[in-house]
Amino acid sequence: MEVLETLKNNFAFDAFKPGQKQVIEKVLAQRSAAAIFPTGSGKSLCYQLPATQLPGLTLVVSPLLSLMKDQLDFLLKKNIKAARLDHSLERAEYNQVMSQAKNKQLKILMISVERFKNERFRAQLKHLDIGLLVIDEAHCISEWGHNFRPDYLKLPQYQKEFNIPQSLLLTATATPKVIADMRAKFSIDEDDVVVTGFYRNNLFLQMSPTLAVDRHEKLLARIKQDITAPTIVYVTLQKTAETVAAYLAANNIHAQHYHAGMKPDERELIQSQFMQGKLNVIVATIAFGMGIDKKDVRRVLHFDLPKSIENYSQEIGRAGRDDAASLCEIFANNDSLQVQENFVYGDTPEQTSIQQLLHQIQQTTEPFWETKLLSLSNELNIRTLPLKTLLVYLELAGIIKPKFTYFEEYSFKNINNTADL
Ligand code: ADP
Ligand code: MG
Repeated sequence: MEVLETLKNNFAFDAFKPGQKQVIEKVLAQRSAAAIFPTGSGKSLCYQLPATQLPGLTLVVSPLLSLMKDQLDFLLKKNIKAARLDHSLERAEYNQVMSQAKNKQLKILMISVERFKNERFRAQLKHLDIGLLVIDEAHCISEWGHNFRPDYLKLPQYQKEFNIPQSLLLTATATPKVIADMRAKFSIDEDDVVVTGFYRNNLFLQMSPTLAVDRHEKLLARIKQDITAPTIVYVTLQKTAETVAAYLAANNIHAQHYHAGMKPDERELIQSQFMQGKLNVIVATIAFGMGIDKKDVRRVLHFDLPKSIENYSQEIGRAGRDDAASLCEIFANNDSLQVQENFVYGDTPEQTSIQQLLHQIQQTTEPFWETKLLSLSNELNIRTLPLKTLLVYLELAGIIKPKFTYFEEYSFKNINNTADL
């Protein structure tokens, strides 16, 4: 059957999103492949559709329980035989899932990478006919990625050990080092890496300079423009998440903080309230993000600077997944720079790449040049450039107006020294 027919019949979608068909055809032709699409652009379908067509079982490794849960709910709604193994399962449920897998009653089995360490599971896995290994959020395998998980390094070994003939890697991280790493570890041909564009014209990116004394007020004013709009406010430190949420709450905004220092059930509750539209504003560290697939996030506001362009692009990627206009605003301030300095991160970009970037931004006639920044940083291979450094360059090049006076500690002299990047 033609893949478009399968898409319509099994998934009730009218058309493929960019890149999907290409990846799906590679997988069905039994090639290992990688799909590098921006967040929210439909990477999961690249394994879900082939899984319904391939004779064997598709094994999906996912770094987060919430990701698995969302994908499983979706599959079950589409009547696709899928299950997940997570630590919450009772022994009887576990046994049931494994016997379904063994009797070929399952098309898709979702697990965490830690599951491979379980001896019983490994023994059972040996008897399954697994046709495809899918690695979701595959940048976790790379030390160069922003979310490295050492256990992911063992995945190529597992693929061999359990005789899985092909793999599919899914990620939104497009740094060349991460891609090279993924290709080498899973023997993926250059032609089998499908990358789609990162430009999203419904996102309006803005940088608004603030002072220490007015940053909270400016944030509040922005939120008050529409208190019903689902909004994520990103901060760097856990404590800031708490104080900013408290400040908003004291000003009659229904806001909650979210960070990795909270109990899992607290975090889950806040996340689900946000997902269900019962809570409009969430003030979070980067702990909140991976796997958030809420369609109508209207604003992603950075109270502090993101760590790098790469992080920035991931974080704003959570806005406007319904394609409706959404605001992504950074309340740039000297305080966040100081916090930022504690996070030494990223590669040192080539000086010439930065000059090229500045040159191209200066040439651009688009009113929202910030939007162009992401595709340019991709092209020029500087996605790991700390945003702080970029802001300094932009200011010095006279691109950011009004001027960022907070950067006065930087002079042209030390900026020209790449050791400072
Ligand atoms: P990603 O993993 O790239 O962040 P997902 O796979 O979670 O994105 O997909 C994002 C959303 O897009 C999901 O709600 C999914 O059901 C939807 N989607 C995927 N493919 C299509 C398609 N061809 N047409 C319409 N919606 C799609
Ligand atoms: Mg995904």
